[in-house]
Amino acid sequence: MMNWMEKELAALAEQALERSLTSSAPVPGRPGYVMRGERMLLNLSSNDYLGLVGHPVIIEAMREALLIEGAGSGASRLVTGNRLPYRHLEEALAAWQKSEAALVFANGYAANVGVIQALAGRGDVVFSDQLNHASIVDGITLSRAEHARYRHNDMEHLRLLLNKHRDKRRKLIITDTIFSMDGDCAPLHELAALKQEYGAMLMVDEAHSGGIYGPRGEGLCHKLGLSDEVDVHMGTFSKSFGVYGAYVSGSHTLIRWLINKARPLIYSTALPPSLVSGISQALALVQADQWRRERLIAASRLFRSLLGKAGFEVGSGDSPIVPVIVGDNDTALRFSSALAEEGIAAVAIRPPTVPEGTARIRFSLSAVHTDEELSDAAASIRTIGVKLGVLKS
Ligand code: PMP
Repeated sequence: MMNWMEKELAALAEQALERSLTSSAPVPGRPGYVMRGERMLLNLSSNDYLGLVGHPVIIEAMREALLIEGAGSGASRLVTGNRLPYRHLEEALAAWQKSEAALVFANGYAANVGVIQALAGRGDVVFSDQLNHASIVDGITLSRAEHARYRHNDMEHLRLLLNKHRDKRRKLIITDTIFSMDGDCAPLHELAALKQEYGAMLMVDEAHSGGIYGPRGEGLCHKLGLSDEVDVHMGTFSKSFGVYGAYVSGSHTLIRWLINKARPLIYSTALPPSLVSGISQALALVQADQWRRERLIAASRLFRSLLGKAGFEVGSGDSPIVPVIVGDNDTALRFSSALAEEGIAAVAIRPPTVPEGTARIRFSLSAVHTDEELSDAAASIRTIGVKLGVLKS
């Protein structure tokens, strides 16, 4: 009965596109590493950008709350799941973002799907960068609004589409601030100007910039002085914060609307209160520990420059996501296996996560990596690049 799956899986495997789960485990006392089977690998595939995953203050807060609040929240937030730690966290989030209000979601995927569905529907249009995260794409599909996909960071194309859809009821422009598979940033000044000119709403996904940019890690929009231009700010707690969950910040009206309309918030059980308490501690650390941001940015610059000197095209910028595009799927898999042989965990990213023909190794850095670890890694990456013909020797 299910033969069709076997057939399609075989076709995926044939194109080096089948995915499988590999177990990983943390290495006690070595936050920049991961265990794969018996081997300890330098972890260049984690989103724990600031090195907070194992922070004792966060863990202790979770443990204490677990004992008081229990293992789960027991219900949706609109029923009896809205425990006290939520209020503390949302007040702290709004103060951090200098917004009127904030709302916690189960994760970034649920936040994007919920917000987009709540803000756009039939007769509306959502303008979305071609390389935006899959959760944004899924949110648009579920919203039933028209999906106007503009070429990556191409503001002329966006303007063309805005003109074409001038008469639509509501217009929403959405962008990742730092693109998750490329590590480059969106032209936020231009997006803010277009939003004004065309009377659209602007939503940003700061999943990969929250905690990293801005004087207290508020994100890229704050760093650029654009936070007041943004109607909907979204970010995750699963990356820089080292925990899990997501937030949306904005006006009181926006948050009231989302409480009434965002389906993943309404129809799903609230996060365990212990987790919410842990996030509050992570938020305090994100704001206070400026050195983590500085170290991460220095590490990102160093790693880009080392790979650039080795002959890879890694682009400019200082985000912690550094892709090495190798092209075909099989080479990407072989590159990743060779890296594991050299003691480095760095996964191959293949279509449909990235466009056809742009399979890559996506390196992601953390504040806990040392210069020495990064330069040793860059030397191994170069050697493998030459061996696989990705680089000329
Ligand atoms: N947005 C972006 C840009 C992401 O990269 C991710 C996670 N990969 C998400 C949203 C989803 O966040 P979460 O993992 O918290 O569901």
